Amino acid sequence: MDAFDEITRMGHERVLVCSNPDVGLRAIIAVHDTTLGPGLGGVRMWPYQSFDEALTDALRLSRGMTYKAAAAGLNLGGGKAVILGDPKSDKSEELFRSFGRHVDSLGGLYITAEDVGTDMEDMEVILTETQWVTGVSPAHGGSGDPSPVTAHGVLQGIKAAVRWRYDEASLSGRCVAIQGLGSVGYHLASYLKDEGAELIGCDIDDEVTALAADELGLEVVAPGEIFTVDCDIFAPCALGAILNDETIPQLRCGIVAGGANNQLARDSHGQALLERGILYAPDFMINAGGLINVYNELLGEYNQERALRGTRTIYLNLMRVFEVSKTEGVPTNVAADRVAEERIATIQRLGSRQWSRSLQGRRV
Ligand code: NAD
Repeated sequence: MDAFDEITRMGHERVLVCSNPDVGLRAIIAVHDTTLGPGLGGVRMWPYQSFDEALTDALRLSRGMTYKAAAAGLNLGGGKAVILGDPKSDKSEELFRSFGRHVDSLGGLYITAEDVGTDMEDMEVILTETQWVTGVSPAHGGSGDPSPVTAHGVLQGIKAAVRWRYDEASLSGRCVAIQGLGSVGYHLASYLKDEGAELIGCDIDDEVTALAADELGLEVVAPGEIFTVDCDIFAPCALGAILNDETIPQLRCGIVAGGANNQLARDSHGQALLERGILYAPDFMINAGGLINVYNELLGEYNQERALRGTRTIYLNLMRVFEVSKTEGVPTNVAADRVAEERIATIQRLGSRQWSRSLQGRRV
């Protein structure tokens, strides 16, 4: 299958190849679906081995953003960009300014943000060339670090899962095992402590686990042991593909609900969790707080309180997914895809593009 066939099969609206040899820029911007709004998604900088590898990543990631925004109920479409290069050695002001001009050339069809290999400083360089960038510092009216809001969204998702699975509103006394105590995991642990949950956790970084034990009273286990911890909720907050043939049989929890991206090694592992009677909160729904955060940046004067309040929709959206999963007898990851696809189809029936007016008046 060649690149055109792949783009057609996945349903992308626009794919822009960006090249500026003078500054070493080789990048791809993929806009998947803008039915609900402009395609928003981060720009990833990675030493891809080939153009094809980079293109595949851009196509897959941008499609994922369409689903994430749709399921979160946001007026955003899906987009993502990749820059071919090593973030440790290939960054320069001219490279990001050149990339910013390519973003600008799309006139708001694509809005960029941070991703793997890029950070807030890079977004500020891009901001010199285009307004279509989020994740800039609070000093520039931006939202800064998204992880407190992401973690707050994960907390709402855990509450929804506990309500659905155990018919309880409180997390008091519930045991949560957290894999990864980085930006999202640590904030989550701290919110859970305030809710009266019992905390168990692991990280490959001993300094982080020592801090969590000291500050939050979290019981530390070795990274290899986290899957077998007897708990109510297992919260993956580190890497992807950690729910797989090897780990799912080991789990001793009632719920999997955490912030990590791409938790299922394969889609079929959603079915494996269902068969084990474990309620899975689909990753792209429960970790939508980061996207909700930058969406609030787009709405004008950023306010973290408003963004945190916005994450409450994650509770309601997940309850709907659990309901669809039950009534249609499908795993929750399949139900989440259906909810996203239904929302896009409904707005498509309105006819012409109906982007939110509030977004059109964004920061200039
Ligand atoms: P981070 O790098 O701050 O934290 C990840 C932590 O996981 C680190 O402390 C790391 O040492 C630890 N870790 C790595 N491998 C591990 C292992 N095998 N066992 C235990 N711990 C391990 O990253 P983050 O921003 O907290 O993101 C965590 C996850 O959430 C990622 O999958 C990310 O894609 C996803 N996510 C983050 C955000 C956000 O707002 N930061 C938003 C949406 C999704």
